[in-house]
Amino acid sequence: MSDRILENKTAVVTGASRGIGRAVAVKLASLGANIVLNYRSSVKSVEEVVEEIKAMGGNAVAVQGDVSSFAEAEKIIKAAVENFGSLDILVNNAGITKDGLLARMKEEDFDSVIETNLKGTFNCIRHATPIMMKQRRGRIINMTSVVGVAGNAGQVNYAASKAGVIGITKSAAKELATRGITVNAIAPGFIQTDMTDALSDKVKEELLSGIPLKRLGQAEEVAELAAFLASDSASYITGQVININGGMYM
Ligand code: NAP
Repeated sequence: MSDRILENKTAVVTGASRGIGRAVAVKLASLGANIVLNYRSSVKSVEEVVEEIKAMGGNAVAVQGDVSSFAEAEKIIKAAVENFGSLDILVNNAGITKDGLLARMKEEDFDSVIETNLKGTFNCIRHATPIMMKQRRGRIINMTSVVGVAGNAGQVNYAASKAGVIGITKSAAKELATRGITVNAIAPGFIQTDMTDALSDKVKEELLSGIPLKRLGQAEEVAELAAFLASDSASYITGQVININGGMYM
């Protein structure tokens, strides 16, 4: 996809300061969309993304906010209409991990992962939906994970949050279809970002041995899929969970 197929559209990308969210924001901007880049704490990094998009001739604003807060999610979503006049695409990408074996997992590590990954997704969709329903169009793309589909030892909290995101995706797709809004989930496998850089070499080697394509995915490869789902070409796709994982899970 190379032309400006998202011209005059506005996208909110949560967690857009780094990793997959950053790549999605830059890709959507390259296709002509105006971008609201949400971040939680990485100010310097999000400013670089704004500059990168502006240097391409695009429009972008950075909005600080924690998606796990209902009120802050409202501020993030409203920034789209306030700055650019509409909200056409919402990419719920912000996410965290706090890994640990079930028998030792702290209650706060369960709660914070659910609050950011699952409730954060709900919060943003909840505030975006009235705007998109009024417009009678919208694209919602939720970042789940191979872990939400297949489970993973040491990630009970993360798996529960990402399986929940799939539940939200399918239910919202059914509710919103008649309003011209599609809702889909992307389930990445093992993508090279700060999140996976934090894993030990031993864990990385084990993961790689289970990937038929024998490499990590790149954030830009996930961004290509998000751009497709955000485009008119994906108009008959809703309620789906699309795997992008090098064959790690089939
Ligand atoms: P990352 O590099 O760790 O970046 C996470 C992003 O989320 C950052 O921009 C961070 O903002 C933001 N964020 C975290 N908590 C937030 C909150 N409460 N409110 C707002 N923003 C928040 O992560 P990534 O690897 O790109 O992952 C992006 C998404 O893909 C996540 O949902 C993750 O679960 C999912 N995913 C990743 C992989 C992978 O292999 N990397 C695989 C499957 C799924 P700050 O920079 O300001 O902290």
